[in-house]
Amino acid sequence: MGIERIDVYSVSLKYSEPFRIAPGVSGESHSIVVRILTDYGVEGWGESSPSKRVTGETRETVSVAISRMAPKLVDMCPLRIEQNMEMMDQTVDGNPAAKAALDMALHDVLGKTVGKPLFMLLGGYRTEVLTDITLSMKPPREMVADAVKAVKQGFKALKIKVGVNPVEDVERIRMVREAVGDDVEIRIDANGGWSPEQAVEVLNRVERFNIRFVEQPVPAEDIDGLARVRKDSQIPVMADESVHSPSDALRLIEKEAVDLINIKLMKSGGILKARKISNVAEAAGIPCMVGCMGESGIGVAAGAHLAAGLRNIVYADLDCDLLHSEKLVKKGGTRVVNSMRLFSDENGLGIGGLNMEMLGIPQAVYKKG
Ligand code: MG
Repeated sequence: MGIERIDVYSVSLKYSEPFRIAPGVSGESHSIVVRILTDYGVEGWGESSPSKRVTGETRETVSVAISRMAPKLVDMCPLRIEQNMEMMDQTVDGNPAAKAALDMALHDVLGKTVGKPLFMLLGGYRTEVLTDITLSMKPPREMVADAVKAVKQGFKALKIKVGVNPVEDVERIRMVREAVGDDVEIRIDANGGWSPEQAVEVLNRVERFNIRFVEQPVPAEDIDGLARVRKDSQIPVMADESVHSPSDALRLIEKEAVDLINIKLMKSGGILKARKISNVAEAAGIPCMVGCMGESGIGVAAGAHLAAGLRNIVYADLDCDLLHSEKLVKKGGTRVVNSMRLFSDENGLGIGGLNMEMLGIPQAVYKKG
């Protein structure tokens, strides 16, 4: 029972409209997609969607990291994921988004080998996952229109991107709340765009609009700032860019800097390590969210399976594939109905078919001999 071949593809995924957050705007995301083929006929899909801002990775660095790890994975047992990850960590430092692609494909193989949807093997805590939809940063009036449209489509939770202009941010939040009414959950994400002082001021002004939590109010490295915001505002503070690993989680928890942690497979290096972050957090009574970082339906499916599997993952922000104008996953994977991520009955990640035209031919193939 071994890995026979690993195919690597490069694909660009255009957003339906430019996606703006505090650090900048992007028109498309770029993914490296991997397919692991085993010598017993099972294959698994994985995806890397690197962000230079968040982990320092690009398509190019992911390709290089995979070129070093993939040859060593060939012939190894795909089900020994912990052992395979140890090999990857010994082969290249960091590069979590590159490792995430291989980890995801191994988990897909695991599910298909066992004959179960992956979330059932990760704990099977829930069978569907409520996701929000993210509202790209725009002038407040335009965000209101986007919010109303999303609610009409059935979304029960909105994530409002803020963090550039504190005065305007308060307006954004106030106007969206007034437009959508009290039944829609509102989460806000500053992507590190505020100073601690600005964050406390904005949060105290928007508290009355019933905000579920604020993600990364201050820059990733400002842990003392996070702790201050947490102390001086009533809105729960979620760390995103500040937490990549189980030890990051431990450090922030020790500093009493967080109420919640946003886990992303691209930051953690895949599902195996994401579970470890959630376990550390759970031990401290800190619930988690699973988010995404530009992935197609492959990576989003992996995040959804993780979110469904674990009790401690109580929120999901799994909307990246919805923001793309073209869908890489043609069949299977997960879909969203009335804000719920629903799974297909297929095993593993459940990816039934991909748009092979978008994928093109492999940029690299690693195999025996
Ligand atoms: Mg975030």
